[in-house]
Amino acid sequence: MKPDQLIPCPLFIGGEWIRPRLAGSPVYNPSTGDVISECPLGGAAEVDAAVEAAAAAFPAWRDTPAIERARFFFRYRHLVEENFDRLCTSITREHGKTLVEARGSIYRGIENIEYACGAPALLFGDSLDNIARNVDCETYLQPLGVCAGITPFNFPAMVPLWMFPLAIACGNTFVLKPSEKVPLTSLLLVELLEKAGLPKGVLNVVHGGRDCVDALLAHPKVRAVSFVGSSPVARHIYETGTRNGKRVQANGGAKNFIVVMPDADVARTVEALSTAAFGCAGERCMSGSTAIVVGRAGDVIVPQLVDAARSIKVGRTDSTMSQPDMGPLITASHRERVAGLVESGASEGATIACDGRGVKVAGAPNGFYLGATVVDNVRDSMTIAREEVFGPVLNVMRMEDLGQAIEAANKSAYGNGASIFTSSGAAAREFKHRVKAGMVGINVGVPATMAMFPFTGWDASFYGDLHIQGREAVQFYTRQKVVTARWFGGAVDDVWRK
Ligand code: NAD
Repeated sequence: MKPDQLIPCPLFIGGEWIRPRLAGSPVYNPSTGDVISECPLGGAAEVDAAVEAAAAAFPAWRDTPAIERARFFFRYRHLVEENFDRLCTSITREHGKTLVEARGSIYRGIENIEYACGAPALLFGDSLDNIARNVDCETYLQPLGVCAGITPFNFPAMVPLWMFPLAIACGNTFVLKPSEKVPLTSLLLVELLEKAGLPKGVLNVVHGGRDCVDALLAHPKVRAVSFVGSSPVARHIYETGTRNGKRVQANGGAKNFIVVMPDADVARTVEALSTAAFGCAGERCMSGSTAIVVGRAGDVIVPQLVDAARSIKVGRTDSTMSQPDMGPLITASHRERVAGLVESGASEGATIACDGRGVKVAGAPNGFYLGATVVDNVRDSMTIAREEVFGPVLNVMRMEDLGQAIEAANKSAYGNGASIFTSSGAAAREFKHRVKAGMVGINVGVPATMAMFPFTGWDASFYGDLHIQGREAVQFYTRQKVVTARWFGGAVDDVWRK
C-alpha cells in the first residue's frame, strides 16, 4: 500500500483523536504479508499527556453514581453488537484469525462488558452494626484513580475488553496501550465507547513498545497496571510496576497439557485436542500445546490426531467469500521462530508425525502461513517441551500411567491450563487435585474461564496477587475503606428539642 492508503492509527487522548507525528512500526495483514498501517511508537511525552487527561477526568468520573457508570456499558454492549461484523473483519485483517475465531473472541469480550454492567452490585461493601456499643462499621469499595492496560497481539479485542470495561465501571479512568502489532481493532472499540457517550479523558489510548510501557510504569499518577503478554515481559512489568508503588496484575505465557487416559471417548477427545492445539493457529495462551497420552491411548489417538491435523485447511482469512479452518501466524519472524522450534524437536530426537512447515496458500505467497504440525515422542528435556511455541504445533508425550503424566505436566515453569480426558471420576479427581495449573479442564480442551471467574494463571503464567476477571478483578480495581462510626446516646431526643 502507498503511504496515503495506510489505515490511520491515531492516539486518543482527552477525547481527541490525535494524528501521530512519530516513527512507526508496520502493521501487517498476515494473510498477504502486506503492510496495512503504521503504528506510532510513542514514549514519555504521549504517556504523560494521556495520564494527565485520565487524571483530570477522574474526580468527576469517580463521583458519577455506579449505576450511571454501568449505563454506559449497557449502551456500549449494544454498540459492540451492532458493529460486530466490523470488529470481526478488523481482527481478521490485522491478526489473521478466521472469522469464526474472531466472532468467538468478541462474544468473550461482550461477556466482560456484561459483567461490568453489574458494577453497582459488584461494588457492594459489608457492614456490621453495633460492633461496640453505639458503634457501627461499614466498608466501601472505592476506585484507585488512573489505571493502565498493556495488551498482547493475539486477542486484539478480547484482552482490552478484559480490562477497561470493569476498571472504568468501578470508577477509574484508563490508559490503554494495545499491541503495536494489532492496534487498529482497539481504536474501533474506543470509537464505540465514545459513541456511547463516555466523558472525555475517561479512556485514552497511546501506542508504542517498550519505551511507552516503561513510561507508564514510571508515571507517578498511574495507580495500577494490568498486563497480558509473554512471561519475561510480564515479570518485567510486575517487578518495575510494584517497585514504583503500583498494583500490578501481569498474565504471562503458557504451556498447557492435555492428559488423555485410555478410557477417554476417542472421537470427542481427538476433536477437542485438535481444536485446542490448532484453533487460532495455536496463538493463544490456553492452547492445548502438549498431549500426554497414557498407556494404550497413544496408539489409538495419535494416528487420528495426525489425520485431523492433515485435514486442516490453511488459507487467507481476509475474505468473507470463503474461510479456511486456520489462518496465518502474526509475522514472518514469528513463523520462523515456530518452525525453528519444530526443527529443534527433530534434532533432539522427537518424531515429526505431521509437518506443516511447507504449507503454501494459493494467491498469497507472502502470507505468514504454517500448517498444523504434530510432534510425537517428545521428552520433557527437549526445548520444544519447555518453551512456549505459540503456533499450530501439538507435542505428544507418551506416559505409562496418570502419576507419570501429572509429574511431567507439573515440571513446566508455567501454570495456566491443564486438562484431562477420561471417563473415570477417580482419575479426574486425582488430576484436578494434583496438577499444577490454575485453570483445569475435565473433558474440556480449553478451560479458559468466563468473565465471572478469575483467569487464574499460576507460576510463570502470572505475576501478581489479584487476577484479571471476576471478583478478584473488582478487588484489583478498587480499594477498601472501612468506616467506624459512633453516635452518642441521647442525641436523637435532642434533635426534636432544638
Ligand atoms: P509480548 O510480551 O511481546 O507483548 C505484550 C505487550 O508488551 C505489547 O503491548 C508490547 O508492546 C509490550 N512489550 C513487548 N516487549 C516489551 C518490553 N521489553 N518491555 C515492555 N513492554 C513490552 O507478547 P505478545 O507477543 O504480544 O503476545 C503473546 C504472548 O502473550 C504469549 O506469550 C501468550 O501466551 C501471552 N498471552 C497470555 C495470556 C494470559 O492470559 N496468560 C493471554 C494472551 C496472551
